[in-house]
Amino acid sequence: MSALGADPASARTGSPAWVIGFAYVTVFLLLDWVSYIRPFQGLNITPWNPQPALAVALLLGNARWLWLVWLSLLTAEIAVRGVPSEWFVTLAATAALALSYAAIARAMQSRLDRSLALARRRDLIWFTGIVVAGALVSGIVYVCTFAVAGLGPSGSLLEAVVRYWVGDAVGMVVLLPILLVATDPLRRAALSVTMKSWDWWLIALLISALLAVVFGRDDRDHFKFFYLLFLPVVWASARLGLPGAVSAAGLTQVGLIIAVQSAPNPDLTVFELQVLMAAVTMTGLLLGVAVDERERAAAELRGSLRLAAAGQMAAALAHELSQPLTAMNSYADASRLIVAATGMSDEQRLARLADVSGRMADDALRASAVVKRLRDFFRTGSTQLRPVAVTPLLNEVVEMNARRAVALGVRVVCDIDVGTREVRMDTVQIAVVLRNLVANALDAAASGQQSRQVRVRAREHKGMLLVEVQDSGGGVTTARLQSLFEAGPSDKPGGMGVGLSICRAIVEAHGGALWAEPGPGGHFCFTLPIGDSKDPEVLQHAS
Ligand code: ADP
Repeated sequence: MSALGADPASARTGSPAWVIGFAYVTVFLLLDWVSYIRPFQGLNITPWNPQPALAVALLLGNARWLWLVWLSLLTAEIAVRGVPSEWFVTLAATAALALSYAAIARAMQSRLDRSLALARRRDLIWFTGIVVAGALVSGIVYVCTFAVAGLGPSGSLLEAVVRYWVGDAVGMVVLLPILLVATDPLRRAALSVTMKSWDWWLIALLISALLAVVFGRDDRDHFKFFYLLFLPVVWASARLGLPGAVSAAGLTQVGLIIAVQSAPNPDLTVFELQVLMAAVTMTGLLLGVAVDERERAAAELRGSLRLAAAGQMAAALAHELSQPLTAMNSYADASRLIVAATGMSDEQRLARLADVSGRMADDALRASAVVKRLRDFFRTGSTQLRPVAVTPLLNEVVEMNARRAVALGVRVVCDIDVGTREVRMDTVQIAVVLRNLVANALDAAASGQQSRQVRVRAREHKGMLLVEVQDSGGGVTTARLQSLFEAGPSDKPGGMGVGLSICRAIVEAHGGALWAEPGPGGHFCFTLPIGDSKDPEVLQHAS
């Protein structure tokens, strides 16, 4: 065993191989001695058999420990049950057992997720299936080896196999999850955090108190209140996940052993108590794994939502900043042309330059306001609502697009019928929505053949402000309506395909709705609630 230093088990626990080997044999013998209660029909068949769990855990760390597993089985035979009369049979039976444990470990290695112990319900189902089938194989192998040599049980062979099967299965179901958790670095860290929490100590106190209630009475009918022991295990699993489940089940099992050892019960009672214990443990494991899975799913969702919001924000900023940056570039070009122009007096030149640089400053301010408000919107989902006069805002946005409309040969018609009505909104964000809708309408109208026209309408409708942006372009088909508001590849050269999804998010954060009507000619509508309060208000939408 020269390669023992590279043993994964020792790598995981950080202990030298000989320490692991020595600790394993010591605990194995101790467990065998503690669990050697009421042997069945003269064989090593006890109602509760936890040692296989230890052997399987060791073999899961490294299959080359098989010789030690066999040696520990032999040593236990001699130390706990005395020197066997038939050496060969004992050697064969223990070798067969060691091999069946190795098979269980192998099956678990190939079926269970190895990145995290008992990570999913699927793992738990496989774990239980392998334990139940493996324990049955061990039982058949062990009992039949003795039976073939003429040293079989004094009573029914089938009953002996069933007893062995249940004893091994119960022992593994209860102890193996604890060992799997304890040997997994991630799970071990979670377990140590769990054991330091107040909740765990409260649960431990409750387990001790309930054990006293169940076993502390004289009437020997321990089943009467056994169901109470489900409570702390269920509590621990629901509150602390799998680490809570295994630690609470482990503590309950220790209490059960102490109770059984200090007040020996008839064989049948120990057997049934252990089956009940397995039920308690399985309940805890199922709940614990489900709770862990749900928490992991919630954490993944939170992570992907954060990522999606960051992506949306980046896309939104790029989308919104491209227009003012292009405008500023044009103003800079215009400034250069004005400086170089001949036939202009200095006063005229200064007046033109002041005008152009004023426009440039306006665009820079607008860009920085957009950056700030969009950042706030995507980070906290907040919109700062203030009463804003609708008519000047709409006129301003149309005005901003006037040059582009002229360049594209599109006529823009305004039909605003809200007078001096004020609506509570975040001006910067709603301006983003309006600019997007008008810019899209101009693009669509410009690509159309007939009279190129965009119409912006605003009116009150059913207690809401209704804004409609219509164009003479190709319009939107019913089939395209579904995907129109999802961020995706744009149909336009140079488009980003995120504008409408951002607009809808903003309008919905205001308590309104944004939609498109299908048909020839683009027709986009949005509503905003008309509130009467004059107070500024910060609205957080659920994101
Ligand atoms: P982008 O304009 O960058 O492509 P948008 O989210 O603003 O992103 O628009 C998504 C798509 O919706 C556009 O590519 C276009 O196909 C369609 N669309 C938007 N407005 C109109 C409109 N007025 N008429 C027809 N199609 C439109």
